[in-house]
Amino acid sequence: MFFRKDVMNKKIYIVGMGPGSEEAMTREALKALEESDIIIGYTVYLDLLKAGFGHKEMKSTPMKQEVERCRMCFDEAEQGKTVSMVSSGDAGIYGMASIMYEISLEYDSDIELQVIPGITAASSGAAILGAPLNHDFCIISLSDLLTPWEKIEKRLKSAAEGDFAIAIYNPSSKKRADYLMKACDILLETMEEDRPCGYVKNIGREGTEYRICTLAELRDAQVDMFTTCFIGNSQTKIIDNKLVTPRGYGL
Ligand code: SAH
Repeated sequence: MFFRKDVMNKKIYIVGMGPGSEEAMTREALKALEESDIIIGYTVYLDLLKAGFGHKEMKSTPMKQEVERCRMCFDEAEQGKTVSMVSSGDAGIYGMASIMYEISLEYDSDIELQVIPGITAASSGAAILGAPLNHDFCIISLSDLLTPWEKIEKRLKSAAEGDFAIAIYNPSSKKRADYLMKACDILLETMEEDRPCGYVKNIGREGTEYRICTLAELRDAQVDMFTTCFIGNSQTKIIDNKLVTPRGYGL
């Protein structure tokens, strides 16, 4: 199938804006926002963009109304506007990219969607801690809003069995205050208590904080929804206060 760019003038960019600061956005993301008539996203992310893009029309819907926010993008695009839908990090990693494709089926086929990748929290957080994901790794979200807890538990056990380094997203929220503890308890069934771990709060935003600790300490850590946690594999070590998972060069 061929697409002619010039006849597909209804455009929605699905933009990954990285962890927070404009510096951590790609040039491609900045260009997409510049080209857009309207920027749509969750208010926290729109606020982060106000400094550089305050002159643009911005629209939002409250938290948990993600699907309505996506429909808003298509409604605006149908009026002929170029739209950017922003997600933090990478829009294709626990972001809005897949929902946008699913919803596109309800709309005119002449609206073009383009995903613009961004730096996901696993990458930006890893860079702060050192190099904890420098071998096979997986990302697991502890949010059971859209995934049954039994499946999350199975994935944690499988990751431990496969000796993957793990990045944990959505480690906690007000309603799920003890989820990180529950997850660590599952990992502690097979991993040693002093497995090197770490976590980073507010990456790329005001109040960035990080800590390198053991798995037993991570279990009791106070984390929030703006924290990403890292669990080393069996080879992970601490070098000069940084968390490092070796490639295996035998150094
Ligand atoms: N699309 C995002 C992830 C959204 S899920 C991305 O690619 O990064 C939300 C989870 O991502 C949070 O609970 C947290 O675990 C992680 N996260 C996103 N931004 C973060 C930041 N600035 N600092 C720390 N963790 C972050």
